[in-house]
Amino acid sequence: MATLRFNAVKASLNREPVPVEEGERRSELFGKNVFNESAMRQYLTRDSFLSVMDAIENGTKIERHLADHISTGMKEWAITKGATHYTHWFQPLTGATAEKHDAFFETIGNGQAIEKFAGNQLVQQEPDASSFPSGGIRNTFETRGYTAWDPTSPAFIYGTTLCIPTVFVSYTGEALDYKTPLLRALQAVDDAATEVAKYFDKNVTKVNSTLGWEQEYFLVDSAMAASRPDISLAGRTLLGHTAAKGQQLDDHYFGSIPSRALNFMRQLEKECMLLGIPVKTRHNEVAPNQFELAPIFEETNLAVDHNSLLMDLMQKVAEKHHFKVLFHEKPFAGVNGSGKHNNWSLSTNTGVNLLSPSSTPMKNLRFLTFFINTIKAVNEHEALLRASIASASNDYRLGANEAPPSIISVFIGSQLTKVLDELEKVTSGKLSPEEKTDLKLNVVGKIPEILLDNTDRNRTSAFAFTGNKFEFRAVGSTANCANPMTVLNTIVAKQLREFKSKVDLLRSEKKMKKDDAIFNVLREYIKDSKRIRFEGDGYGEAWEKEAKKRGLSNSKNTPEALKARVSKKTISLFEGMGIMSKVEIEARHAIELEEYTMRIQIEGRILGDIARNHIIPTAIQYQNILLENVQGLKNIYGTDFKKFAGEQMELIEKISEHIAKINKGITDLIEARKTANKIEDIDKKAFAYCETVKPYFETIRYHCDKLELLVDDEIWPMTKYRELLFLK
Ligand code: ADP
Ligand code: MG
Repeated sequence: MATLRFNAVKASLNREPVPVEEGERRSELFGKNVFNESAMRQYLTRDSFLSVMDAIENGTKIERHLADHISTGMKEWAITKGATHYTHWFQPLTGATAEKHDAFFETIGNGQAIEKFAGNQLVQQEPDASSFPSGGIRNTFETRGYTAWDPTSPAFIYGTTLCIPTVFVSYTGEALDYKTPLLRALQAVDDAATEVAKYFDKNVTKVNSTLGWEQEYFLVDSAMAASRPDISLAGRTLLGHTAAKGQQLDDHYFGSIPSRALNFMRQLEKECMLLGIPVKTRHNEVAPNQFELAPIFEETNLAVDHNSLLMDLMQKVAEKHHFKVLFHEKPFAGVNGSGKHNNWSLSTNTGVNLLSPSSTPMKNLRFLTFFINTIKAVNEHEALLRASIASASNDYRLGANEAPPSIISVFIGSQLTKVLDELEKVTSGKLSPEEKTDLKLNVVGKIPEILLDNTDRNRTSAFAFTGNKFEFRAVGSTANCANPMTVLNTIVAKQLREFKSKVDLLRSEKKMKKDDAIFNVLREYIKDSKRIRFEGDGYGEAWEKEAKKRGLSNSKNTPEALKARVSKKTISLFEGMGIMSKVEIEARHAIELEEYTMRIQIEGRILGDIARNHIIPTAIQYQNILLENVQGLKNIYGTDFKKFAGEQMELIEKISEHIAKINKGITDLIEARKTANKIEDIDKKAFAYCETVKPYFETIRYHCDKLELLVDDEIWPMTKYRELLFLK
């Protein structure tokens, strides 16, 4: 029955933009629902305030007796904002955020009650951990876990709930969430980068990793989204013939934002302001109904929290505007997918962006130090970086012969390439005064502050230098940024540590001057990491061949990519840097494999259902109409009927062929699934799903899409691409 489809289309056609009150200015709204510095000053005692600030800035522990003051102040503030409940807000390994709400309300006997929120309720909670994935940690170790307050990310009010950002760990100390290893990685990069930054400025005592993400997404009318089981359950279309018009004309990218979407964005931005998420840009993306939202960059832990919160918020605000947000990396075949570029840099407590070229040779030597070390880190750990962004949904983007590719490479632009080429020629050992002067004046001193070719132009590189930051472009739009950010910050931390010890060694053993030592080590690093640098088009067969020659990994699917998660090298890296233990690493790997398998399994079921319950019956219905028509023609024209019924009869046969192929596809798919399900080993099982189950998706889809072209539009049950993508 196509009723649902037409009702959905009708509902969507009748929609008006939902009005949004502008009200207060953005700057006045900003942070209103956040327990930020100014709220803390107002609601906390001096001692408590200072202890929170010290925890934020220096990672010191907050004393228990102060926690009671803090929780009371926080509660008072929250109640004035209308909050009635509180929750420990955390990011379990499912990818979504989790919360369990408790009321401030407590009875005190005599039929009386008060609003209460004690220090221990702020600091630690015990959610029911058994329903979150733990990758077997809980089988081998402690079964219970707890959430603990992360004071570096401020509490906020969402609806009527005070949300307290927390980490989630097992009682034996294993991380059960995304945030715990991220915080460890951020500490590691702070320590390592501070030491190196001190070569150039003694006043540096802290280095923050900064992250500015760009979130891409699609908006689909909620009625139309609900009319499709695949969108409702899997967040993407599993079938559907491409519309006659796609993105060829680029008219969406340059066009104005449609008014319904614009109002959604305006309201979303208001809500973001209240929560202190500094969103700044909004625009249309390449594909129809695809958009992007980006904030001003922040300290990485906060930026990660803000992205998780935003994704949650977007779905809620969208509901009010009768939209569903599709975060999936490839919700529609044939049009661009969505990503989440992670812009990343390092910034000192003295206010310096360490990846920003500058006006003096000395400052530029500092820039080059961090720049080259980052490239070296990516070169050493490209496979792990690829693994950090692997997911069933991102597989449809990476490795699907479009940009960005599944190969990690670094783009730096022609100006910096020249600089590195020059640096590579530096003499080995001590430098003569002339050489040093020449180097400083003509190479290091000549780096322009604004690099002309480092704009958004190289869209095909997975990891591009964009003027004053690196942009990790291969991150998927559904991803929690914590994962790639943990890896990136860890590998850079390790690299900077090694750099420091090499430089120090040259200084102490070879009695080299600091600059000489730095130039010497950088020269070696430039040579060592040449293979990761690539300035061309980062996808296509030519590059794949070239990358293979260079020994770069090219994992086209998640199970393959995930191998690097548990390699000896990775375990030694994470253990050595104190980020994760072997148990934690293996648990995460298990969760990721299981999640991959489950996603394919679910999609397989949905596709089977749609094809058998919606597509085939419709095709038969249409075939019957044709049969009746042929029968009628035969009745009238007798043996001559074929002259008039030729087309119809051909259609009847074609329909039968497609139905047969779909049926066979589904039967084979189910068989493959059954076989795969019998496999105990989770790694082998994931591979089986990837290699033997998933390929049937294509076959089934192909024939369903062919039927879509043949069958009368009036009875086609699935809302079509042109309706999903082009109705405003
Ligand atoms: P575009 O890439 O669109 O030209 P920008 O270069 O201004 O725009 O920034 C793109 C993204 O990079 C923004 O989300 C911004 O917050 C982020 N960004 C800018 N500088 C930094 C930095 N130092 N660290 C992390 N992210 C940054
Ligand atoms: Mg960008």
